[in-house]
Amino acid sequence: MPDDFRKQLDRVADWIDGYYRDARRYPVLSRYKPGELASKLPVQAPEGAESFEQIFEDFERLIVPGITHWNHPRFFAYFAISATLDVNAMLWRTSPSATELEDVVTGWLARLMQLPDRLHGIIYDTASISGFTALAAARQRVEPSIRERGMAGRADLAPLRVYITEQTHSHIEKGAIALGIGRDNVVKVPCDERFAMRPDALDACIREDIAAERKPMCVCATVGTTSTTSSDPLVPIAEVTRRHGVWLHVDAAYAGPATILPEVRPILDGVEHADSLVVNPHKWLFVPIDLSVLYVRDLDVLRRAFSLVADYLYTPETDVHNYMDFGLQLGRRFRALKLWFVLRYYGAEAIRKKLRGHIALAQEFAGWVEREPGWEVVAPHPLSVVCFRIDGDDAENQRIADAVNGTGEVFLSTTRLHGKLALRLAIGNERTTRADVELAWRLLREHAKAKVGAH
Ligand code: PLP
Repeated sequence: MPDDFRKQLDRVADWIDGYYRDARRYPVLSRYKPGELASKLPVQAPEGAESFEQIFEDFERLIVPGITHWNHPRFFAYFAISATLDVNAMLWRTSPSATELEDVVTGWLARLMQLPDRLHGIIYDTASISGFTALAAARQRVEPSIRERGMAGRADLAPLRVYITEQTHSHIEKGAIALGIGRDNVVKVPCDERFAMRPDALDACIREDIAAERKPMCVCATVGTTSTTSSDPLVPIAEVTRRHGVWLHVDAAYAGPATILPEVRPILDGVEHADSLVVNPHKWLFVPIDLSVLYVRDLDVLRRAFSLVADYLYTPETDVHNYMDFGLQLGRRFRALKLWFVLRYYGAEAIRKKLRGHIALAQEFAGWVEREPGWEVVAPHPLSVVCFRIDGDDAENQRIADAVNGTGEVFLSTTRLHGKLALRLAIGNERTTRADVELAWRLLREHAKAKVGAH
């Protein structure tokens, strides 16, 4: 440890303190041009040691301007996101506290969300990996022979089918690609006009597949979709999956944390029938990226899908979780620690207050849009996301989004709904105030008018 370690920590602490006090001084969207940072850095690593001061100065001068500030109060583009012991939690033995704290804190979160006791939580880095892992477990359950014999060249294997909607996050399709299911076997079930999966259509898709000797493997229902935060109705969907014996995976990556609010929890009704569920504390629970929790009903199926204990990994303990058994990766970070800190530091009550505040701000913003002539809200907005557009073509809406983002004051994203471009404001930063949202709305109106003036 360097002699001036304490001084270095103070320097970092001061910087972080300053950042939290005044993140608004930074342009939320980085102004760097492609290649700009790379051109300022040496092409080779230094041979000799450099001073902390020098490195930290470069961090401020070169790196910070290349940051798009996900932790900025006016970061409205995507769901917001908010390290000293070098722990590897691959085996219980390699850090018992890490393994056991993981069991404990995923249990804490499950109870906050009123999940059934029999769901076991496992922490991964992202929902993409959680989803991939759930698909692998579903595949293991429906076709256990794949573990030994693979899928290639097998006439005895029916195509395995995965059911999603056009609103499902892309990681499920990616998982299907990676697992050899193939995109052609990912079925997009039609949605209703509120962007939610139609259970009757799901049933029809599954029946059709069974009749054609294809094998239904997994239905992915989403609670809180990325574009609009719509939720697929779990109760009737679970009826269909139970009837056909198909794995039900629920993606609540974004909306999951909000189900700790009693008034929001009904969107998870039916989750007691799910085989797996993903929640991302790094999206809307103020935990720094990355931390995603996958809850599974049958840990053993996950073990059967993934466990492969090399001689050099054998340990004598029984009755412990060796987390390497439940996923692709061996080495794993001690992510439970930050969830533990966040849950303890804030406490559930304050977290509920913050989440309610975000939802209220989104509702208020939607009200402003609805009352403004020429603007419309284009999707239900039960949570902290509002999709809206100006009455005009896609190009005009895109121009407004670009102009507003170009100010550096706020950052919004766009999406496509019913074939039309929509602007999308997602509130999730813990320091976002009403004034920040008002500023976004003022800029949107100003830039919409600028176009009219130019004609
Ligand atoms: N699922 C939903 C509903 C999402 O909104 C997102 C990202 O926004 C993801 C999954 C992917 O999350 P991750 O980045 O943790 O893989």
